[in-house]
Amino acid sequence: MSYVIPAPVPATVEVAGGTARFPVHRIYCVGRNYAAHAREMGMDPEREPPFFFSKPADAIVANGAAVPYPPRTGNLHHEIELVVAIGAGGRDIPLANALAHVFGYAVGNDLTRRDLQFAAREKGQPWDVSKGFDHSAPITAIRRASEVGHLERGRIWLEVNGERRQQADLAEMIWNVPEIIVELSTLFELVPGDLIFTGTPAGVGPVQRGDSLVGGIDGLETLRTTVV
Ligand code: MN
Repeated sequence: MSYVIPAPVPATVEVAGGTARFPVHRIYCVGRNYAAHAREMGMDPEREPPFFFSKPADAIVANGAAVPYPPRTGNLHHEIELVVAIGAGGRDIPLANALAHVFGYAVGNDLTRRDLQFAAREKGQPWDVSKGFDHSAPITAIRRASEVGHLERGRIWLEVNGERRQQADLAEMIWNVPEIIVELSTLFELVPGDLIFTGTPAGVGPVQRGDSLVGGIDGLETLRTTVV
């Protein structure tokens, strides 16, 4: 195969305990999957169920790497999230079999240009520029489900410069991981290499250049990001 321009380098994520990497196909994200976060965004979780949006695969940022403060925003927000790595594809996946499609889990940050998101929301415009910008998806190494099991509960937290900003439990998710896989697979054919950011708990807020972000989930690696 030859190309008329240089072919893009595939986006990949480290896998804990080995040198082989996880190739990223797509990045799906769940919006408003914790009731307290939906409320802090001014929404009623009883009336507005979670939903999906996406980021480009090359928005991935390796654990420990610096994130450049993005252009065209004055309100960059952190959103710490459990990330599901899909290892086996499918469509219309049944609930009882959903977890068999999971390769593993990671900790991610769904970085958001909140000012652009609110402007888009007011006008009924898409979220792409507020969510899917360059360097918008820092993520840890993936831990295999065969090693850590499936994560139904456990602390999820994020600190900015040592100050706790977000803290919740995975059990508070409105759609749990199997339900997310079922729902998403009715909209898209899931493919090995898909990542799913499963939504953030309450406590989102702004970050500035020079800030140090540290976030974690029980059983997974700690995500460390500096904004530059
Ligand atoms: Mn999010």
